[in-house]
Amino acid sequence: MRFYILTDLEGIEGVVLPVQTESGNPMYEKARRLLTREVNIMVRTLNEIGVEEIVVLDGHGANQAYNLVYEELVDGAKYIMGSPWPNYLPMLTSNFDGLMIIGAHAMAGTRGSVLDHTMSSRAWRNAYINDTLVGEIGISAFYAGSLGVPLVFVSGDDNACLEAKNLVSNVETAVTKYGLTRTSAVMLPPATVEDNIKSALKKAVERCKDIKPLKVEGPVNFKIEFLLAEHAQRYWNKEGVTLLDSRTVVFTGKDAREAIERWYST
Ligand SMILES: [Zn+2]
Repeated sequence: MRFYILTDLEGIEGVVLPVQTESGNPMYEKARRLLTREVNIMVRTLNEIGVEEIVVLDGHGANQAYNLVYEELVDGAKYIMGSPWPNYLPMLTSNFDGLMIIGAHAMAGTRGSVLDHTMSSRAWRNAYINDTLVGEIGISAFYAGSLGVPLVFVSGDDNACLEAKNLVSNVETAVTKYGLTRTSAVMLPPATVEDNIKSALKKAVERCKDIKPLKVEGPVNFKIEFLLAEHAQRYWNKEGVTLLDSRTVVFTGKDAREAIERWYST
């Protein structure tokens, strides 16, 4: 079996403040270790179950994705680090049995969720795949779904887990903390997080064949409502891109993957 693990930082255990996600801050250095610990739990557990191939994408941070602590990574997976990437989810193909997202956060505007945003809290207000309001979990799930790959596992705060279930009702989820406000949460101790991840992960692998890929019939529109007109103007006069108003941009493709790639490559 083959699984693709997309990582983010905001939903990792112990992470609750913006400074923990910003490189250069001493608290970020500790958050990287917590992320790496969760990745290692994932890889070890999947290896024990007998999964042959695991690709891990170090996904946090658009401008510099170098969050994993390289020297602490365990054997048994391929790790993609650095940026930019050649495409939105590099090395993901239809040969994978499932997409897994760890350290996930809820979409922009989700009340009481830890560090909620969609791609950029400074530039993005909302995103849609056709008429479905999506955050980063949904964008990645629809992208993988176009390749026939289902979203089978998500870990993060309770809001991120709920958002995943609203998209894919039988996805397995592992809660790392319960959000109170955007920058506070009821934390679960590391040992509890580890247990939650291991048990949900085992179920996800057992049941991955029962989970349907998230698919929409094409053509598909990926619509982004930016906060300001200046965020949208770089997309003026680009092929396959429509401006609905000064700050709302639509990227069209034959499926969700092509629409998302159009955004990613423009
Ligand atoms: Zn992030």
